[in-house]
Amino acid sequence: MAEEQKNLIETDIVIIGGGAAGFFTAINLAEQRPDLRILIVEKTLLLLAKVQISGGGRCNVTHACFDPQKLTGYYPRGHKELLGPFHIFNTNHTVEWFKKRNIKLKTEADGRMFPVSNTSETIVQCFLQEAQKQNIRIEKKFEVLEIRNLNHKTYEIEGRYAIVRAKAVVLAAGGHAKESQLEYLKTLNLEIVPPVPSLFTFNLPQHPITQLMGLSVAETEIKILETKDVFRGPLLITHWGLSGPAVLKLSAFAARKLHDLEYRYTVRVNWCLEYNEESIRQVLMQIKSEYAYKKANQKPSFAAHLPQRLWEYMLQSAEIKDGDTWQNINNKQMGILSKSLCAMDIPAQGKTTFKEEFVTCGGIKGKEIDFKTMQLKKHPGIFVAGEIINIDGITGGFNFQAAWTTAYIAAKGMADTL
Ligand SMILES: Cc1cc2nc3c(=O)[nH]c(=O)nc-3n(C[C@H](O)[C@H](O)[C@H](O)COP(=O)(O)OP(=O)(O)OC[C@H]3O[C@@H](n4cnc5c(N)ncnc54)[C@H](O)[C@@H]3O)c2cc1C
Repeated sequence: MAEEQKNLIETDIVIIGGGAAGFFTAINLAEQRPDLRILIVEKTLLLLAKVQISGGGRCNVTHACFDPQKLTGYYPRGHKELLGPFHIFNTNHTVEWFKKRNIKLKTEADGRMFPVSNTSETIVQCFLQEAQKQNIRIEKKFEVLEIRNLNHKTYEIEGRYAIVRAKAVVLAAGGHAKESQLEYLKTLNLEIVPPVPSLFTFNLPQHPITQLMGLSVAETEIKILETKDVFRGPLLITHWGLSGPAVLKLSAFAARKLHDLEYRYTVRVNWCLEYNEESIRQVLMQIKSEYAYKKANQKPSFAAHLPQRLWEYMLQSAEIKDGDTWQNINNKQMGILSKSLCAMDIPAQGKTTFKEEFVTCGGIKGKEIDFKTMQLKKHPGIFVAGEIINIDGITGGFNFQAAWTTAYIAAKGMADTL
């Protein structure tokens, strides 16, 4: 369709993206500035699609970490940039914001916060109702193809069938799987960090340890040898590889490096945190001398926390047979067993998306943004919020918190400047 045939929609503010950040910006702006006409354009037919499916359908709204400085530690990308914004809008504000709208949040043992209703529908309905109450206009099936800064006062965004002219634009289009999907930002000449996935589990194709699927160990240390990234936490063996909090954290912090390695890397696991390969060997030698006639498949006390099947797997890896006693075990086998316990090297290849939550690392570079107002430095009048920024958190509610925070500040930035 030629440009002159496209409808022209005039508004004050156009928000690109009908997701978490888009709605949160719109609602907060409308409350502060009811005089402004606000339009959300959404490329799909679905509004708040990720909120709906988030947290396994329960929406992990935020995380019970109320100190801005500490909160920044959960963001592999964005920890520096978010410190100022978290002093303005942090977890306390999120809890209050929802409470004001009759949505109580509950905290689970691991710090994740969910609506008491235990369903993301509560959050979706809250946003939809607030948007309706505030007369926020929504255009679905409107994919933005280009953004034009006419004179730093008027902006045009172009879709397939219509053009929107506005005094300010909010980029809240979320994470993009491919750089090519960010084409519509080209005219703005922004530095963009190419997107790569974050928050995934590790694939161990055909590795025998996957036969132990379902087993977990509460305290482990895992390290990626190539990148040197290391984290402690619970580890879960699945039928495809390794999962659990420590793996997800590691996948987030090493997301870009693992992408550069084409997801071929070696995971080193220490299953006995109090020891290293050397010290555990000493312990094993002592056991051998003290309990020479005891069967090795009876777990020694230092391995009490390990599932029996994992212990037996380690014995088999060292070719220690079922009935072998400690006196039967030679030095080479002791070496292999020590390594299995404290420095088990597992080659990994590929990744599997973590269904509960996944995000993109990459997007608009922090240095393009004035984090006091969320305005683009090159284009005052264009604001940004949510996952489109090169900011992402680990799993646990941190990604939504970044969306609420940046959206709130963008709304305030517009309310104060327009
Ligand atoms: C399965 C899953 C579960 C998750 N669970 C959690 C959780 O429990 N807790 C948590 O903190 N985080 C969770 N996340 C991450 C969280 O959902 C995102 O970080 C958050 O939704 C980002 O909000 P956003 O508004 O920036 O982007 P989005 O929510 O992705 O919204 C962006 C919107 O913009 C639209 N759009 C894109 N391009 C255009 C265009 N050119 N024109 C018009 N519209 C466009 C998209 O269609 C989309 O609707 C989860 C993610 C996934 C995938």
